[in-house]
Amino acid sequence: MAAKGLLERLKSGENVVVAEGYLFEFERRGYLKAGSFIPEVVLEHPEKVKGLHEEFVHAGSDVVLAFTYYGHREKLRQCGRERDLEKLNVTALKIARQVADDTGTLMAGNICNSCVYEVGNPASIETTRNMFKEQIEWAVAGGADYIVAETFHNVGEALLALECIKEYGKVPAVITMGSSANGLSSDGFTHVEASRRLEEAGADVVGLNCTRGPATMMPFLGEIRQQCKGPIAALPVLYRTTPAQPTMQSLINPETGKYAFPSDLPAMACSRTAVREFARECLKIGVQYIGLCCGNSPHYIREVAEECGRSPPASRYSPNMSEHYIFGGNVKEYHAKTLLNEIRT
Ligand SMILES: [Zn+2]
Repeated sequence: MAAKGLLERLKSGENVVVAEGYLFEFERRGYLKAGSFIPEVVLEHPEKVKGLHEEFVHAGSDVVLAFTYYGHREKLRQCGRERDLEKLNVTALKIARQVADDTGTLMAGNICNSCVYEVGNPASIETTRNMFKEQIEWAVAGGADYIVAETFHNVGEALLALECIKEYGKVPAVITMGSSANGLSSDGFTHVEASRRLEEAGADVVGLNCTRGPATMMPFLGEIRQQCKGPIAALPVLYRTTPAQPTMQSLINPETGKYAFPSDLPAMACSRTAVREFARECLKIGVQYIGLCCGNSPHYIREVAEECGRSPPASRYSPNMSEHYIFGGNVKEYHAKTLLNEIRT
């Protein structure tokens, strides 16, 4: 049986839990290079990609996002791998479709910031359009239920992505802007205004992804919720950003005094509690499309899913410290109190 569609779910008031963050997770696991950040793992270790999709679904993701982020012509060209472009996209989509079919979840295609779009440069805009077009056509041929277009710094580019999805894809479009440090797009729109314009232009879901952590993304979401009529999306990174260091790129690792991005970001990883609170706040203000971006891992997605009232397969293994021989405190022969003192003081 086909999974209930994205728009159908959102219209009936359901929340949609979305695991992203494949780039950083594969970099952490040693299958992808920080810097070029292209999804080579799709071609070199497709079984690992399938495995991570399955882990995210196990933890509660409603969506299998095909791993084509930065799998576009410009990024591959920069790395001398342009000839792998079609194979990479088709393979990623096939893996994602398979996992979605096996698990009854949705499969989304994925396009993103092109790295060539330049305001007022018609040739660059034409190149960007062609890059979107080919990836959208592969996604639809590969059976994508909808397309995620994300991490745009420029509203003009995001609008072009939306236009291309409508023209070449004819599937629902989730369009999210990268959340900048100064709260503005590179073409000068506030995050709220960007979402409003994208919605007005016909995006099915609008909002923010990447760059900011839960703490510094949240302040924008309430206003976006007020200004937009349809469903909105939030997909922060999983790092403890602050008002003084609002993005993962601005975080300073206190141990070194240097920028943490990208290798030392785990030193500022969010707690599960913070992720749970973020999901709670999203539900409270009416963010229906709740996802996690860079730094995500299955244990975080389970927090979001459980906060949404779900009990994914991974919930069978959710923490229960009453079963612990010391912390549970109910196994007399281990002298729980004495042991606890030994390891805490
Ligand atoms: Zn991200």
